[in-house]
Amino acid sequence: MADVEDVIIIGSGPAGYTAALYTARANLRPLVIEGFAWGGLLQQTTDVENFPGYPNGIMGPEMMQELRDQAERFGTRFITDDATRVELSDGGVQTVWIGDEAHRAKAVVLATGAQHKKLGIPGEELLSGRGVSYCATCDAAFFKEHETIIVGGGDSAMEEAIFLAKFAAHVTVVHRRDEFRASPIMLDRARAVENIAFLTPFVPEEFVAGESGALGSMRVRHAESGELRELAATGAFVAIGHEPQSELFAGQVELDENGYVVTQGHSTRTTLAGVFAAGDLVDHTYRQAITAAGLGCKAALDAEWYLRDTPPDVTARPASETIEA
Ligand code: NAP
Repeated sequence: MADVEDVIIIGSGPAGYTAALYTARANLRPLVIEGFAWGGLLQQTTDVENFPGYPNGIMGPEMMQELRDQAERFGTRFITDDATRVELSDGGVQTVWIGDEAHRAKAVVLATGAQHKKLGIPGEELLSGRGVSYCATCDAAFFKEHETIIVGGGDSAMEEAIFLAKFAAHVTVVHRRDEFRASPIMLDRARAVENIAFLTPFVPEEFVAGESGALGSMRVRHAESGELRELAATGAFVAIGHEPQSELFAGQVELDENGYVVTQGHSTRTTLAGVFAAGDLVDHTYRQAITAAGLGCKAALDAEWYLRDTPPDVTARPASETIEA
């Protein structure tokens, strides 16, 4: 079979680009299908101050450009488009499609990361980008002196609220329970900020447009009494966690009950030989750029060892091309 790559990497956050860097340096000429919006969630961040090696911090997009450049320097090739379908095999040829275009490889690293969870309530999609946001660190500056809302009760919600409160007139943290999932220290910090208020236990019901067509208010319902309230706000930030971007792989590799790809032991091996997974796609605990990069490195080494020790037979046809007798 012609044109079978050694390694294809799907995804381009710290995990994907680190896997690319290591496999490129192992002379495996990786092909990264990096997605149309390459760079992952860090593209939406401002200062990154906790990635070792940047004593003065670095902007998220700049860091992703540098990781990409570093991978490119050693021969990584990129396709800036979204993978639309995969056909993963157990120890055979792995196939990744971009529309009608098929790319085949002996090994594949899945590193498509995670995305912000959505509430799934009326008005959310329509007003997304028009007052409804998923990233206070990205958008808070647009809400100077505005009435704002943070939805959520975890550490992300507290962190976002504290950051947003530096810009907004007021921040109301709306959470569906009276108890918080956030760590006590984060909760105490948020409680100490003068212009942050808490509203519990209220469940978001709907985002409502104001006269301008952008967000005007959010309707909420008391979780027990059912009392309805309308909170005037021109900015609302949904901070209810993340979910893995694993739809493409469902039914092919094993996923856990939350949709994260399951890997074996301390390795990045999935349930299929030759298919490796790294970054936020597998890790719902640490979810840091540095841990994702570490997993990307492990996936590259796992792929390299797999290709050295048990390379697949590249003459085998993928299942979709096999005609049953
Ligand atoms: P999380 O801990 O899973 O919290 C998500 C919050 O959103 C929960 O309070 C949850 O409510 C609420 N929620 C989920 N779905 C909802 C829905 N449909 N409607 C309304 N509310 C909903 O997620 P996270 O805050 O993103 O944190 C994830 C991990 O990263 C945690 O381990 C956290 O400690 C860590 N983290 C740490 C820091 C830090 O230390 N600086 C900052 C950010 C994140 P319930 O509680 O009722 O389920």
